[in-house]
This record gives sequence, C-alpha cells and structure tokens, in this order.
Amino acid sequence: MRYYSTRDAGRKSMYSLKDASFMGLAPDGGLFMPEYIPRVDLEQVLLAAYSSYADMAVYLASLFFGEEFSSDVMRSLVQRAYNFSCPLRRLDDDLWILELFHGPTCAFKDFGARFMGAVLGQLREGDEHLTVLTATSGDTGSAVAAGFHGVPGVNVVVLYPKGKVSNLQESQMTTLGGNICAVQVDGTFDDCQALVKQLFNDKVFRATHNITSANSINLLRWIPQSFYYFYAWTQWYKATGRMAPDVVVPSGNYGNITAGMLAARMGLPVRRFICASNANDVVPQYLASGVYRPRPSVCTIANAMDVGAPSNYERMMCLYGNNYQELCSSLYGWSCSDDDIRSGIAAIYQRYGYVSDPHTTTGWLAAQHYAARGFSLSTAHPAKFQEVIAPVLHRDVEVPETLRHVMNKQKAFTCIGVDACQLKKLIHKVVALSFTTVNDIDDGRPMG
Ligand SMILES: *Cc1c(COP(=O)(O)O)cnc(C)c1O
Repeated sequence: MRYYSTRDAGRKSMYSLKDASFMGLAPDGGLFMPEYIPRVDLEQVLLAAYSSYADMAVYLASLFFGEEFSSDVMRSLVQRAYNFSCPLRRLDDDLWILELFHGPTCAFKDFGARFMGAVLGQLREGDEHLTVLTATSGDTGSAVAAGFHGVPGVNVVVLYPKGKVSNLQESQMTTLGGNICAVQVDGTFDDCQALVKQLFNDKVFRATHNITSANSINLLRWIPQSFYYFYAWTQWYKATGRMAPDVVVPSGNYGNITAGMLAARMGLPVRRFICASNANDVVPQYLASGVYRPRPSVCTIANAMDVGAPSNYERMMCLYGNNYQELCSSLYGWSCSDDDIRSGIAAIYQRYGYVSDPHTTTGWLAAQHYAARGFSLSTAHPAKFQEVIAPVLHRDVEVPETLRHVMNKQKAFTCIGVDACQLKKLIHKVVALSFTTVNDIDDGRPMG
C-alpha cells in the first residue's frame, strides 16, 4: 500500500508507509490518503470481534499494512497497543454509547496514539533513532506520550505552555519518565507550536536529528481510528439485529468522524453520519450553506473540540470526491452552546443515570435532534471534566484508577523559555542520553 496527498489528484507522487508516517503532512501541505481503500469481509469482522478487539484490529490492520509486517509482527504490535476495553453501552432501544475512554489517558486519542507508537517503533530500520517532537494544549500531548512510552529507539519531547494545562493533564505528561521528556515552556500554546515549527524548518538541525511530529493528521493515527467503528457495529448488530446504524461523532478536527467515513468506504454499514460540534460550528454551517468558512475558534466547555479550521476537512472532502451534494447525503450536522451542553449533562443523568462528559454530551444532543437510531461515540471519561460536571450534577465524578494513579505521582519536567536554541540543546541531550539508557527503557514491561 502506498499513500498520496489530498492535493495531488493526479497521484504524481506516491509515498511508502514509512515516508508518509514520518512526514505526517505531505510536502505539498495536503493530507496523506491510502492509494486504495480495502474492502472488508463483514463475516470475518464479526468472527474476529467476537474473540477480542485486538483480534479484529489485527484483521483490519492487515488490510492496510499486510505488506509491511508479517502477521506475527502485526499481532504483537496490535496486542501491545490495545490492551484495554471498548464497551458499547445501551442508553435505550434507539441509542447506544461507544465508550472510547478506557485507555491510559482516558480519551479516544489513545486508540490512534498507541497504534502509532507501536508501528512507528517497528518502522525504524537498524539502530535508527527517532525523536517525536510535539506541542500540546493538553490532551494530545498526554495521549502521544502514553502511546510512545517504552517504545524502543524513540524519544518523545512534548512541549506544553506553563500554567495553561490542567493539573491532571500536566501529571499525565510529566510522570511517565523513561523515553518521555516533558518540557514546560514559559509562553502560550502558540509559542509552543511556533517553536516546534521553527525546528522542523531548520534544515541544519534536521540533517543531524531524525525528528517527526505525531499530530492528529498522521495516517498512523487516523487509519486505526476506523477500527472501533467496526467493533461498535458488531456489538450493535448482535444486540439489535439491525443492519445500518446512525453514527454520531463529537467533532473538532474531524479526524475521528473521517475515520468512520473511511470505515464506511471499507464496507461498514452506516445509515448516516451525524457530526456534533460545540459553538465552533464551521462544518455544520458548511452543510447548511454550501460555503466553507473556517474562522478563529472560540473557547467552550467542550474544549477539545474548540477548532475553527478542522484539519481533516480536506480528507473528508477527498473521501466524498470533493462533492458537496454527495457529502450532504451521508453527513448531518448539529451544534450546541455551553448552556445546551450543561443541560444535556443533567438530562442524560436524570434519564439514564449516566454521567457524560461535555464532548460526549454534544453527541447525545445531536442524536436527540435527529432522533438517531444507532450509536454515539463517547470521547473522554467524565472524570477529566469534574469542574464542568460536578456543579451541574451536584456530585463528584468517580475517578478511575488510571487517573488516580498518575495524580499521585511526582511530576518531572524541564523548563525553557520561548527559545529555539534552548530546545535544540535539550533535544540533543535527550538523544545522547537515550543511546546509553535505551536498554533500561525497553525492559519488556507492558506500556501504560
Ligand atoms: C480530540 C477530541 C475530540 C475531537 O476529535 P476530532 O478527531 O478532532 O474531531 C473530541 N472529544 C475529545 C475528548 C477529544 O479529546
């Protein structure tokens, strides 16, 4: 399987998996797409999913990456990545919730980040060393850090703005140790991103340091996100006997829902997709008006979806042949305000006794609006959003063991200013150190 850019319709340049995943973004600024979309055998999906999530993921991953890895290697990579559950919960006859928050950082990004960590580690050749450099405003950094923790030959340097991530998020990034280096930048998130960009644009530095980003558009994060749609479908089909569900997805950068659209193209039966957004409603507006108008984002209480220019828009359009009518026939959009989200959290709790985080709640609200019959994706554990939920429900949310564990650990991080020289020196040191300690890191313990 090779990969091409969404901006290269003539497919003049094709890239290997290794090149595409190390680059992240295509050289022309587009997003990578697989040269063809494999078709699944649904009987085989049902059979494999009956055994386990990992077994199903091995089957699906082999359709894309079967030429790169033997089935034994594929199996060990996938089993290493997916050692947590992914339950489908019934709210009522019509709506089910796919809980994607049982991974190490309690958010759905674990599904992409852990797969990417395992596969990228495997794609290294010989004693090649790789540094993953990433800037975060909170959730992505912790998922990437956890996803790459303990991967041999790979160091992660994650930059976050001082005082601008939650205490829990900081703990998630700074307590892993080993091959994860957390860097607190005395600046804003934009400063962190600018620093990362500066290093990626620095030809001299890049010639001597093998650096890559692990941001959410990377195809190694995107493709495995299609797998849980199949898993949800098998559970739903078994429970209801129905064939084609409505699929509701709380959306920000549209990586998640676009992966669902990929699954549909692989043969997953879907009646329609419904994207749920907060006040950042660029895509629902586009569906309503036919005019795509990205704009600066606004802050909401579902902050992982505060995106004004969704980075996967091009991928979504590519999947629908850049045809607006075609897109509209399978995608419906809905957006809600912070007040809607707060009353939604209360309503879900009252009706079903279910505690739902603010992002998941946007999905439920969209499902209500369209009287959806199918399932809606839950993207984060409610305990990560205590400060929103507790005042609404007048009770605390129970904190799962994974989160309680990190909150009690000692944080370790390096402080720098908004200064590329300081960052370069730090990376240099991290890499030099890793050559002497790589055996201590790869101690065979399970990740996470
Ligand atoms: C990242 C994130 C989203 C948005 O997902 P996209 O793939 O960017 O659309 C939604 N909810 C939570 C909790 C997230 O962390």
